[in-house]
Amino acid sequence: FAINMDQLQLDEELGKGNYGTVKKVLHKPTNVAMAMKEIRLELEDSKLNAIIMELDVLHRAVAPEIVEFYGAFFIESCVYYCMEYMDAGSLDKLQAAGVPEDVLARIAACMVRGLKFLKDDLNIIHRDVKPTNVLVNKKGQVKLCDFGVSGELDKSLAKTNIGCQSYMAPERIRGESQNNLGTYTVSSDVWSLGLSMIEMGMGKYPYPPETYSNVFAQLTAIVHGDPPELPEAEYSETARDFVARCLKKEPSARATYKELLEHPFLIKDQTSDVDMVAWVEKAVAFKQAAAIIAAQATLPESV
Ligand code: ADP
Repeated sequence: FAINMDQLQLDEELGKGNYGTVKKVLHKPTNVAMAMKEIRLELEDSKLNAIIMELDVLHRAVAPEIVEFYGAFFIESCVYYCMEYMDAGSLDKLQAAGVPEDVLARIAACMVRGLKFLKDDLNIIHRDVKPTNVLVNKKGQVKLCDFGVSGELDKSLAKTNIGCQSYMAPERIRGESQNNLGTYTVSSDVWSLGLSMIEMGMGKYPYPPETYSNVFAQLTAIVHGDPPELPEAEYSETARDFVARCLKKEPSARATYKELLEHPFLIKDQTSDVDMVAWVEKAVAFKQAAAIIAAQATLPESV
């Protein structure tokens, strides 16, 4: 069935991305809570129709590690994209609570299975793997969202926010990985997976803070510096090796998804009894406490 705005009751804002806002909505006919992303575009209607058609492939992206797509529609040059509501939000906001090795392994296993499913079953390369695009729910499930299915949509997004924190592989920064068809290879996503894992392990973006505000310095560090590593004090040799296999600067040297699934780090996860529900609960509580402290800090002193 097709979703339209009249069927939706708008609730609170869940977050703001580079290209638009995400709101919680209730789909009244089915009583299903959804997340609705608004993407503002300046385009003629024919392009909008092409985008909606391209997004249709998402109806086939059904897997335990992929955020479910419910439908998209547009109103006045905005695309509205409705997806499964993930009630613990994105990993970038949960990692501050600390990510122990068994939790990191489960997250990695979900990400690798999700990425492999997209590639093998739908021939989709994610292109934007980062902690913001990994969503979690209170059942302890970990799912990917925001993968590149629509070339038209991609072309229409104003890529203003290219800097900040880049998860791009060195070859993408150098501009090598795009062949003349404009496609890039799956191994660029493997790099971004490795970098995301280090960010979760360290609780912060792994390249030095002085590069945050200087795009050129950051991209130079990614292309010319040594790849970052998981901290030795907190993670086993197995975990560190897994990540190192993702973060080879030479794309052909990186592990494939099949190799990653066969790595001892993920083999061990298959029999691990990690309590993801408890971890998510703790991480959400930590996030809420941090938000209260931040709100208090901005109050005027007289209050
Ligand atoms: P970005 O453009 O940085 O990838 P998004 O626009 O995709 O960010 O999302 C912004 C924020 O909205 C995310 O960080 C996340 O916290 C929240 N969010 C996005 N999708 C969902 C969802 N399906 N369920 C719950 N929260 C979501």
